[in-house]
Amino acid sequence: METGLNTNLPISRLLKQSTPFYYYDIELLHSTLQAIKQAVSGMPYHIHYAVKANGNSHIMEEVFKAGLGADLVSGGEIKAALAAGCPAQAMTYSGVGKADWEIRLSLENEIGCFNVESIPELQVINQIALEMDKVAHVAIRVNPDIDAHTHRYITTGTADNKFGISLEDLSSVIDMAQSMPHIHLRGLHFHIGSQITDMQPYVMLCETINRLQDEYAQRGIAFELINVGGGLGVDYTDPEQHPIADFERYFNVFKHHLNLRPCQTLHFELGRSIVAQCGSLLSRVLYVKESRGKRFVILDAGMTDLIRPALYQAVHQMQNLTSAHLETATYDIVGPVCESSDTFAHNSILPLTQRGDLIAIRTAGAYGQSMSSTYNMRALPPAVFSD
Ligand SMILES: *Cc1c(COP(=O)(O)O)cnc(C)c1O
Repeated sequence: METGLNTNLPISRLLKQSTPFYYYDIELLHSTLQAIKQAVSGMPYHIHYAVKANGNSHIMEEVFKAGLGADLVSGGEIKAALAAGCPAQAMTYSGVGKADWEIRLSLENEIGCFNVESIPELQVINQIALEMDKVAHVAIRVNPDIDAHTHRYITTGTADNKFGISLEDLSSVIDMAQSMPHIHLRGLHFHIGSQITDMQPYVMLCETINRLQDEYAQRGIAFELINVGGGLGVDYTDPEQHPIADFERYFNVFKHHLNLRPCQTLHFELGRSIVAQCGSLLSRVLYVKESRGKRFVILDAGMTDLIRPALYQAVHQMQNLTSAHLETATYDIVGPVCESSDTFAHNSILPLTQRGDLIAIRTAGAYGQSMSSTYNMRALPPAVFSD
């Protein structure tokens, strides 16, 4: 089917599938991983893939084959990452609410690092490690009070949110960690937010880390590792133009602004920037409904398949892959779920659209399938891979 549309999606192949489903361009994933490797080559940098962005086993296998570690936020993710071939040593485990069984699972497998977010968590990890006759490797998650200028639901590094230890409490927590026999303090961890496209917050993060390192060096405390988390953003408005995030620019911030000590390693936890662009959600138009001068395109995909627009007012590029019309119209694009927030786009300009058209919702590889649910007893969307 010919369209004037500029898309890199294999339309004839996608037309054979029943909708909705996720399509992953594995070649793009490979090129993305290659770009990361190239940007960090020769540096003492360790990249961990934040599995919560997309826990699909095929995606994880490709990422771990490329030599990345994993950043995990639950026992379920730890098990899935082990099954997908990630060595436990290359795992970091983050999150404010680690359950006892999850801590035990991590210690049993001797994961590389717990990112510890509170004093009671540190005490429980020490106690469980004592019972298991293990030593837990930990980094303290610091809340550096930096505003990443992103959506308030994905800002994590400001004083008023639940993540990490505040700068005022840091010294006492470090002293406490160092006095605990079953805790080995490896370093400091930070993660300031997600979908960050302005590099200034990362420059500020580097400056905060430099200050902290100087301060602790004076007290004779050195860290083996610094972990700066993830959060690098991608281009949601023009995925064809920017299929790969600007890793060069991102890593250069740390190369130029962070004073890494000799023998220190720098760890990153990237999720979105690795997988967002390789995924699209494919859906068919069920109905085009006109009401009070407004036109609604009603899709067979809904917020249960991709919740980002409903949850964060996120914008995704919408493409009609099959309309042969040159004429365009303005549509609100909505799903079938019984919630007003089940809306993918307002005032989206598409070629004239009709029942049966195939619609691609682009840049859906991160926090798409991994956040899908069965609300309204809908089926979970399946995945189709380019390879
Ligand atoms: C979610 C998360 C990440 C990944 O964030 P992205 O924006 O997807 O890169 C990294 N570290 C921690 C602690 C996280 O919670």
